Amino acid sequence: MSHTDHLSISRRPIMRPSSQTSKHRSSHDTEREFGGTLGAICIPVFLPLTVLFLICVSRSPEASVLQWPPPLPSTDLLWDPLAPVLLLGWISLHALLYSMPLGKVSEGLVLRDGTRLKYPINGFHGLCISGLLLMLLLGLGAPLGYLFELLLPLAVCAIAVSFLLSVYLYIRSFWAPFHALALGGNTGNPLYDFFIGRELNPRIGNFDLKYFCELRPGLIGWVVINLGMLMKEVELRGSPSLAMILVNSFQLLYVADALWNEEAVLTTMDIVHDGFGFMLVFGDLAWVPFTYSLQAAFLVVHPQALSSLGAAAIITLNGIGYYIFRKSNSQKNQFRRDPTHSSVARLETIATATGKRLLVSGWWGLVRHPNYLGDLLMALAWSLPCGFSHLLPYFYVIYFTVLLIHREARDERQCRAKYGLAWDTYCRRVPYRIFPYIY
Ligand code: NDP
Repeated sequence: MSHTDHLSISRRPIMRPSSQTSKHRSSHDTEREFGGTLGAICIPVFLPLTVLFLICVSRSPEASVLQWPPPLPSTDLLWDPLAPVLLLGWISLHALLYSMPLGKVSEGLVLRDGTRLKYPINGFHGLCISGLLLMLLLGLGAPLGYLFELLLPLAVCAIAVSFLLSVYLYIRSFWAPFHALALGGNTGNPLYDFFIGRELNPRIGNFDLKYFCELRPGLIGWVVINLGMLMKEVELRGSPSLAMILVNSFQLLYVADALWNEEAVLTTMDIVHDGFGFMLVFGDLAWVPFTYSLQAAFLVVHPQALSSLGAAAIITLNGIGYYIFRKSNSQKNQFRRDPTHSSVARLETIATATGKRLLVSGWWGLVRHPNYLGDLLMALAWSLPCGFSHLLPYFYVIYFTVLLIHREARDERQCRAKYGLAWDTYCRRVPYRIFPYIY
């Protein structure tokens, strides 16, 4: 909080619609992603239905995505007046924790207008405080297992909030100055721009909506849902199963790690490149908490026996995945923040025309996305405690493989545009993208 205090003033939106200035300037050079307009129409319909469908499948006896007729819920299962109260209360609690003067304040990367935004690094505080509040509620006898019954109504509300927030973001983006719009989100096609996000860093005062949603209500909500499933198991069977404990612990570690290293999110594609529209809003608020918790929800209805040896093997796999994921992400972050730091100074690099260098040894010399490799190993370890009798618990690892292969291709395109020949040299030096000697 020092020399850049003035930025919040200089970034105040200029109150004039920006569509006229931006339309002709941006529509030609914008490559459309996610299937363009067709994707932008289908995805906002298809994915919310998928969330509801998967929750229904996870609690049906067959737990099969192929069962016919599909396990459609009756409409009264979709609504509970407690759901909007809990959801809005949860988002408000995290908005309050975000705004409290806890933790340090960091600067994001330099924006197109030469300024840098400031971000509170207090997500881990948010996790700990909300964890303490939950423990208190549990101590007072709050029936956390009731989250199992509330999952569908909560998902319906999260989907509704995602749509409302996306409409708000789309409308307000027309009052943002041109330089505050995402390069890829300003095509002039309303459906596509609504989906992909027009404004890069929408803020209400100093409150950054994208950064807030990225790691807080949805991500922390995911581990709370998991805990609710564990409590439901305790209600039903007297104690939590080993499989449920593993799924809860692995995923809590993942969320705690993301929040502990929250500063690293400031250099990710989501913050630096993507506008804030339906794609990210829905992903953060609905998709992550309600589909990433499917394994825990599945285990409530489909208990699995797990041997100590099996558990040990799965813990080892998660540990290896976590090690690769954390070490590779930290190495790149350290290198980008301070290439002269002793931990990265000796690594081999290649120069690029932008002045930035690319690592070609260490983790980033093994494959071009070692962090994705580690993430995928962990994803597999989260599914294995659910046994081999059903495909549903493997939904996450299958979906995540597709997502990361697609994300890798997007990143590759952006890096090739940024670094040109130097990127080609890097690709020749490090030929595999995610899996050594395979892909
Ligand atoms: P990455 O952290 O992989 O960053 C990609 C960027 O790193 C590139 O654009 C480039 O940016 C830089 N870079 C690439 N190669 C090199 C190199 N050799 N040397 C130096 N810099 C390089 O981006 P993501 O945001 O995709 O992933 C971050 C983490 O989040 C990953 O671990 C991923 O698995 C995880 N993730 C998890 C999701 C989930 O739902 N659980 C969803 C998405 C991601 P530049 O050169 O401009 O610095």
